[in-house]
Amino acid sequence: MKNYILMGPPGSGKSTQARLLAKKLGLLHLSTGDLVRRVALKNTPLAREVQASIQRGELVSDEVIIQLLREELNRERYRKGVVLDGYPRNLIQARDFDYPLSKVIYLTLPDEVAKERLLKRAKLEGREDDTAPVITHRLELYHQETEPVLNFYRERGVLVEVDARADVETIHQKVMEAVVE
Ligand code: AMP
Repeated sequence: MKNYILMGPPGSGKSTQARLLAKKLGLLHLSTGDLVRRVALKNTPLAREVQASIQRGELVSDEVIIQLLREELNRERYRKGVVLDGYPRNLIQARDFDYPLSKVIYLTLPDEVAKERLLKRAKLEGREDDTAPVITHRLELYHQETEPVLNFYRERGVLVEVDARADVETIHQKVMEAVVE
């Protein structure tokens, strides 16, 4: 089993790079953001809870996200491995993920650039959480909750950093180099 994780602030291009990497490696790409957005469309109490979290730029509870991810990864189609993005968002989630990890790729990007990109994406994709106040909150949460996870993987020797300021293709090349190393 070969598993990879793409990490980085919102706007760093995690999903784009995860998709490209998965395609190259013949693995499936799984975004927990997509997973929760799909759940939010249903008409259930859980859907309403999840939808409220997304709208406020809050994290969905660990219990919920861990359960959703576990169910998804149990499917036969992830047998060879997965390229994950959007997970883990905090140390609890990182510790709960007990699949072997080949590499964790950290896409680095200054907050100002992240904000600019997300505001642009808001116009293109119409994501309801890409508004200025919600973006600011998501970046705050990223620094508080998600950044400690980087050290967790650094200490385990699986973290590689890639500068995410370049264009999509250049970043993809660097990600590929980092993965084959
Ligand atoms: P993303 O597409 O990764 O930016 O995620 C969009 C939203 O989905 C986040 O702001 C959270 O509300 C929720 N979400 C995605 N992944 C997670 C996770 N691992 N833990 C908690 N909430 C998550």
